[in-house]
Amino acid sequence: MKLYTFTICLTFATLSCVAADLPLAKPCNETECQLPTCRCSSVNIPGGLAPRDTPQFVILTFDDAVNVNNMFSYRSLVYNRLNSNGCKAGVTFFVSHEYTDYTLVNELYNQGYEIALHSISHEANQEYWRDASNETLMREFGDQKIQIAHFANISIDSIHGLRSPFFQMSGNSTYQMMTNAGLTYDLSWPTINFINPGLWPYTLDYKSIQDCVVPPCPTASLPGPWILPMISWRDLQGVPCSTADTCYYIPDRDDEEGWFSFILSNFERHYSNNRAPFGFYVHEWYIAVNPALRAAFIRFLDTINHLNDVFMVTANEVIDWVKDPIPLNEYITKDCRQWTPTQCRPSSCNAITANHTEMIYYLQICNECPNEYPWVNNPLGL
Ligand SMILES: [Zn+2]
Repeated sequence: MKLYTFTICLTFATLSCVAADLPLAKPCNETECQLPTCRCSSVNIPGGLAPRDTPQFVILTFDDAVNVNNMFSYRSLVYNRLNSNGCKAGVTFFVSHEYTDYTLVNELYNQGYEIALHSISHEANQEYWRDASNETLMREFGDQKIQIAHFANISIDSIHGLRSPFFQMSGNSTYQMMTNAGLTYDLSWPTINFINPGLWPYTLDYKSIQDCVVPPCPTASLPGPWILPMISWRDLQGVPCSTADTCYYIPDRDDEEGWFSFILSNFERHYSNNRAPFGFYVHEWYIAVNPALRAAFIRFLDTINHLNDVFMVTANEVIDWVKDPIPLNEYITKDCRQWTPTQCRPSSCNAITANHTEMIYYLQICNECPNEYPWVNNPLGL
């Protein structure tokens, strides 16, 4: 296999560079790259299905800390929502550590939602993520998997996905880390070239055709992890936006009807074409401060929950379907997603000092209080 050399520079020691060899990704070979472990990057529907036989998946995600500020929205917007097949609608939460109340993460998990990773530090300096090595990313995401499972008392095996802060990937390192940390999919890579038709999830065994919106993107052959492309929306002027809350030309603040048709027109681009998963990626605060959008969002969810070929599912369920793409008529008779609720014995840990800053933190967890505030390099606060 053809090899090339690249250099990983550790962010904390700019002169300390180590060389690593990774095989360069080659153009995809459709015959060799077969489900369930390999898929070429393409707009083709998995399994060669026709659009009318393809479930239209809707992936709703919320990012950042989970706490009392946003739980009201989560409870009122998504709890008790069912798809037309009677299965509980899925939502994926990309949780960052700081200011997260882990007793509430436990609640979301027990409601059947997917808990995924969004890093321990959510470091604001984007260059930190751009230049991060596999080792740094292991401290941010690999350790966060252990951290969330511990403090929210949820199954570590239920954690499958990640979203990099600011959608800033770290080239090959992101996917090396995913393999090391036992993660299945990444939902951080925006595309503006593959909106209509949209790009379906794929693996990195071979060279990706996806446009690199926030470099560096992977260049090596990295079997294992799945890419769930963030297919951009188009705003009212046709400008692409990776998340619902970054669109620029948007309906008027009080125009509920305008917001509803804005959301619907973005959805229909997927639904009436190759049915690539439709992402509704948003921060809770954006919905909370825009009542007309909130009303339109509820109408949209009510609408799709009544369509018999549309399903709100977790991001991980989409990957599961792509690995084994059964047609719509089979999908609707399939068992619903299962989960085993876990108990939370809540602890309120007051005035914990942090090592990385002078600040004092308060921590709500389903476990015994740590000695110091958990952070990068000490995820359990031992
Ligand atoms: Zn974030």
